[in-house]
Amino acid sequence: MAVETPPIEELLGILDDLVAFDSVALTPNVDLVDHIVAYLRPHCTDIALTHDETGTKANLFATIGPAVDGGVMLAGHSDVVPVDADDWATPPFTATRVSDRVYGRGTADMKGFVACVLALVPRLASLDLVRPVHVALTFDEEDGFHGAPILIDSLGDHPRPSAAIVGEPTGLQVVGAHKGCYEYTTSVTGMNGHSSRPTEAVSAVHHATRWIGGLLDLGAELAGRAPADSRFEPPHTTTNVGVVGGGLARCTVAADCSFDWEMRPVQGTDAGFVKERMAAVEAELLAEMRIVHPGASIETEVVCEIDGLEWVEASPALDLMRTLLGGETDVGVVAYGTEAGLYQSAGIPSVVWGPGDIAVAHRPDEFVEVADLEACVAVLARLDEVLTA
Ligand SMILES: [Zn+2]
Repeated sequence: MAVETPPIEELLGILDDLVAFDSVALTPNVDLVDHIVAYLRPHCTDIALTHDETGTKANLFATIGPAVDGGVMLAGHSDVVPVDADDWATPPFTATRVSDRVYGRGTADMKGFVACVLALVPRLASLDLVRPVHVALTFDEEDGFHGAPILIDSLGDHPRPSAAIVGEPTGLQVVGAHKGCYEYTTSVTGMNGHSSRPTEAVSAVHHATRWIGGLLDLGAELAGRAPADSRFEPPHTTTNVGVVGGGLARCTVAADCSFDWEMRPVQGTDAGFVKERMAAVEAELLAEMRIVHPGASIETEVVCEIDGLEWVEASPALDLMRTLLGGETDVGVVAYGTEAGLYQSAGIPSVVWGPGDIAVAHRPDEFVEVADLEACVAVLARLDEVLTA
């Protein structure tokens, strides 16, 4: 028997409120967190906030039920990716219902899931819980997973959940593994000069392209390193250079160039392999650059190094999903990164499962199907079976 599922209009009302906060990653989210705290407060036995160093961004860890180990953590992020409102048919920070869909930034990724969780909280809180349910919400997931490590550091002060559901948009398919997500910014510093005398200067742009070429050259080897039983598509570690910027003018040798790049390792050793190979490429470039300009440099800043969610054949998180879904279920893998890998590394068995389609996330006209929200909240309503038994 499940707890009574909230009426859809109530759930959509909660989603409307969440979408109205333009909680874009790297901007303050405390208004949104305050709003959620005010909603949760009457139903929680504990609400703990952890902040970034500016105090303008907060993670939330709320406990409903007794302060004992063995509960279930429902986890999400409070931030969304930026918008270009001109590309949207509806205002991105207004949840807009058009037939069977709700449009708005974050409806799929992942305020729809958060709304389902919040709608259920009062109903779960009214039960005689023997195990708690926790609501975990992080900041800045979409730009380097900055909040989750701070939240995880604080988990020692709280009862330990036995399993976590990270509600990223999987179309309600259980996801048991994903690749890692390692993100970097590399800055090349050369020396400017007139382009008619290139040998008397050091082009940061030219050397950056050779560094990038070295990274791309690793593609075939990375493909060859894929584990034979890799469940991923593509099965191997990939890299991408997403942004490049540098130089002043066509006729000037560029003194600076920087680029944002990433790799998505299918295994931890691949990250080490890429770093080792790129260190060799870099040493060769630097030696050349410093013949002309001893101050030349290539510096790489780590934005994040998020480990993948490792595949396990059996776990309390998979058991939980079988209970909630009422039987065996296919468990898939995805190529995108989530906080589930971090929670798993911290000792909390995790799966990814939530409403919405990842294909519409991070794009204009993001939406979630109302039917997905209804299905999600109906499944989560069965939590009473594990929390009261
Ligand atoms: Zn997300």
